[in-house]
Amino acid sequence: MKDNSETTEEESYVLPSWRVNQIILIAVRFLTDEGYYEDGFDYQKAIQNKGILLKAYSAFKPENLLELQKISLSLWKEGLCLVATDSETQQVCRMIAYNDSKTAAEIMQIIFHEYGHILFGHTEQCPNAEAEAILFSAIATFLMIAEQQFHIGQLVAKDGGGERFFEGIKAGLMENFGTQGVML
Ligand SMILES: [Zn+2]
Repeated sequence: MKDNSETTEEESYVLPSWRVNQIILIAVRFLTDEGYYEDGFDYQKAIQNKGILLKAYSAFKPENLLELQKISLSLWKEGLCLVATDSETQQVCRMIAYNDSKTAAEIMQIIFHEYGHILFGHTEQCPNAEAEAILFSAIATFLMIAEQQFHIGQLVAKDGGGERFFEGIKAGLMENFGTQGVML
């Protein structure tokens, strides 16, 4: 993602292969558990059902958005991700905001990216966290688009369920990349 609005960070980060495999599995597991292959699956609802507030950039005043971007966990400016603890109730508030002037596919990519930050428990902006969120989003978006186009997950689900799909991908990763001991 070479977008000059994205980040001023020059440093790049290469994820180790065991972590790449782990993130692939986490993305597949997340979507499989949510039944992403079912008709009418709504990824935004699935994320909201996890207690995460989803908001469009257009719902904010521009100056407020700039302030929020400063404390966002994400370096990517098309979306932001906040995890804050309410000082009175001690409740953890999690919010994802996204640039809603983008296309539906881009918005999906943004929201998955920010969700990745939350899922992985990132606590600060850093190239490592960005690399993880980018990979998570790429895998999840790919699965969603592949589903829309080819209904792969739906075919597999009819033929034995999501669990087998997940186990199949896990086995394939281990076989092809020699990963050992990927635990989730
Ligand atoms: Zn990010």
